[in-house]
Amino acid sequence: MNLSKLSEILNEEPKFRFVQANKALFQDFISSWDEVSNFSKNLRERLNLNCPIEIKAELIGAKNAKSLKALIELIDGEKIETVLIRQKTKEGTRNTVCLSSQVGCALACAFCATGDFGFRRNLDYLEIVEQVLFWARFLKDEGREEKIDNIVFMGMGEPFLNYDEFIKAAKFLNNEETFNFAARRLSVSTSGIVEGIKKISGEKLQINLAISLHTADENLRKDLMPIAKKYSIREILKAVDNYILKSGRRVMFEYLMLKNINDSDKDALALAKIMRKPLYMVNLIPYNPTGRFQASSPERMEKFKKILEENQVPVTLRHSVGAELSAACGQLRGRK
Ligand code: SAH
Ligand code: SF4
Repeated sequence: MNLSKLSEILNEEPKFRFVQANKALFQDFISSWDEVSNFSKNLRERLNLNCPIEIKAELIGAKNAKSLKALIELIDGEKIETVLIRQKTKEGTRNTVCLSSQVGCALACAFCATGDFGFRRNLDYLEIVEQVLFWARFLKDEGREEKIDNIVFMGMGEPFLNYDEFIKAAKFLNNEETFNFAARRLSVSTSGIVEGIKKISGEKLQINLAISLHTADENLRKDLMPIAKKYSIREILKAVDNYILKSGRRVMFEYLMLKNINDSDKDALALAKIMRKPLYMVNLIPYNPTGRFQASSPERMEKFKKILEENQVPVTLRHSVGAELSAACGQLRGRK
């Protein structure tokens, strides 16, 4: 897909063509310009030639699996992964899409497969949007009356180190002339880039914020996440408190459960101590083994959760979409 020439071509047309093109692409999820019957044959041909909308992708996993992965090939041949998670609920299937914001990631967290892969480049906002479009077309082709319910920026990369394109993509998804996707159903996860937390505090967009904390111990955090050498937990929480003050929104702290590393009773108490604040909540994430560590046992996770609850910290575990998602997202590598 390459829409860089779209404005140029449509500028020669009456203005309402732009509205029609946006609707066709981002609301009707066409796979070819030929489907836009209210465009002249000539215009459709020019669009087919100059603005290819085909998305080159390889689907990984069975079509009816609970979580599906796609490897999307970008114009320069780089590949990114995106995930669709389908959750059965009483009201029907809930579909969550996980987006990558960069090709790879420079932050090299010890537990993350994307971190092992290294950093290649930033995505531009349309490459981020393309991932949503891929799943929207996928659901449409399946012929079920299902839609995308949630979109999370939790795939490859650190969204706040590509802030401008990330926020442009989020606003594009929210824009009623394009995707018209509710901001409340958008979430972004950061490893704790303080400048990004400050910037998002100033945005009107009501997107949800998640912070990858993973431990309350400053030194351990530096071992697990090299970026922690730059931003202390104290600084991160200060920025979060300011965000809460400005937005009045809840903030989710993600906590990956690593066996014998950060899952003791003592760790839970240390976490509870810094998490007992209004609008803070903790999401315990089962670790998806990528080599270095082992996952905590279900019993250990339950105990850890209980300690947080006893200390009045709102906490979720495993069955939440967040946990399943992070587990799937944490496996993103960008190659098979
Ligand atoms: N870079 C951002 C967003 C992408 S990572 C961030 O770090 O927040 C999204 C989530 O997946 C993070 O909470 C990350 O800690 C988690 N994750 C990474 N590796 C994982 C793994 N192997 N198993 C489970 N979750 C993982
Ligand atoms: Fe990057 Fe997030 Fe993975 Fe850390 S966890 S390496 S910040 S994608």
